Amino acid sequence: MKLNFLGANRQVTGSRYALETNHTRLMVDCGLFQEREFQSRNWHPSPLPPGEVDALLLTHAHIDHCGLLPRFVKQGYRHPIITTQATADLLEVMLRDAADIQLEDAAYKRRRHRREDRPEKYAEQALFDQRDVDHTLPLVQGVDYHVPRRINAHATVTFHDAGHILGSAMLELTVDAASGPRRIIFSGDIGQWNKPLLRDPVLLDQADYVVMESTYGDRDHTDGGNIEDQLADILGPILRDGGKVVVPTFAVERAQELMFYLSRLVRQDRIPDVKIFLDSPKAVDVTQIFQAHRDCFDAEAQQRMAGGDSPLVFPGLTLVRTVEQSKAINAHAGPAIIMATSGMCTAGRIKHHLRQNIEDPRSAVIFVGYQSHGTLGRQILDRNPQVRIHGRNYRVRAQVRKIYGFSGHADRTGLLRWAGHFQQPPRQMFLTHGEEETSLKLADEIRRAHGWPVTVPHYLSQADLD
Ligand code: ZN
Repeated sequence: MKLNFLGANRQVTGSRYALETNHTRLMVDCGLFQEREFQSRNWHPSPLPPGEVDALLLTHAHIDHCGLLPRFVKQGYRHPIITTQATADLLEVMLRDAADIQLEDAAYKRRRHRREDRPEKYAEQALFDQRDVDHTLPLVQGVDYHVPRRINAHATVTFHDAGHILGSAMLELTVDAASGPRRIIFSGDIGQWNKPLLRDPVLLDQADYVVMESTYGDRDHTDGGNIEDQLADILGPILRDGGKVVVPTFAVERAQELMFYLSRLVRQDRIPDVKIFLDSPKAVDVTQIFQAHRDCFDAEAQQRMAGGDSPLVFPGLTLVRTVEQSKAINAHAGPAIIMATSGMCTAGRIKHHLRQNIEDPRSAVIFVGYQSHGTLGRQILDRNPQVRIHGRNYRVRAQVRKIYGFSGHADRTGLLRWAGHFQQPPRQMFLTHGEEETSLKLADEIRRAHGWPVTVPHYLSQADLD
């Protein structure tokens, strides 16, 4: 039996694996390489002939795990894409959005290369378009958590809660290897414990082989205290002074977590009674998918809903889809909270709201997520005195704050807890989905703690499994 590492090796995007036995070929995830340095890999020919893969198993709907699916289908894949019900629903929103971005990016690059008189490059073509998404979605089969699903006579998969985003799962795969049945765990992205809405990551205790993420393998998250208290402390004074609060957010999970906290603060009268806008058609679509999959929520959220208190619908909240509605927010007088995408302020409606508010010292920009170097979000967070938005300079006079504790990923302590739960030594553990140095450090730590064989595979490497 052979395990092929086809992405997210010694870096964090493009998750993809292929497992080959004498009887079957399975692919796990099919993600887009998003880091500039590795983007050319998106155009490489498929490492396995798409027609020879029997099933594709998907851990969750983030683009770095599913964004190459339409291309794989374009290249000839016709078999099932098996994932949880919630991921199946999120997939449509995510892939449609990705197809739009593909077309825009390709058109932008064509224009720029022509202007600079550069030769044509691969990136001038979209990897896929909406038609390819049309062909992909009918292949998707949603399954329930924790119920073993037979893929064929030689392979079964069970999806367990990963606590990362709605629908996210770790896969427990049982396959017939030459020397007998083998259990292989793919962790997918492992979430944090005690997050709002989602159930905790499942701790598994039996595996022959483990493929594990390592994004935060060498550090713990900054402890800023209770998120709700941080929000109340920051929002209260600004709103009482009549300021507007602009919150850049990601459309999936972060926006809904924010709503969860805000709904509690509103109901407990811990913040003034103001208008709260979620301005992003994508985030609004995703919120509706959350509402349709309340079965994925944890006990606390279930209890609140049973008591008639929905964490995603509350007084003052307006979900904004159309451009007209979005523009109307500018005319809103008085204090308000405006959540909009994109999360790092690189595109989307957030830029309009920043233009409107960033020069007003009564207002604030509040960050709830990581801001990469070079992004507009990072420039604001670093308190650059001036930033450029839509071709014009703006003075940063609004207050700039950060809330600690939001993260979709388990930190070092969480990862070690998850890894340490296996009762028998796995024959081999593979660390992926982390920067090289980070994965190597975590591998060392697990080796030292348990004495298990742990490796950090390279891109396109292959492991022989007994
Ligand atoms: Zn993810």
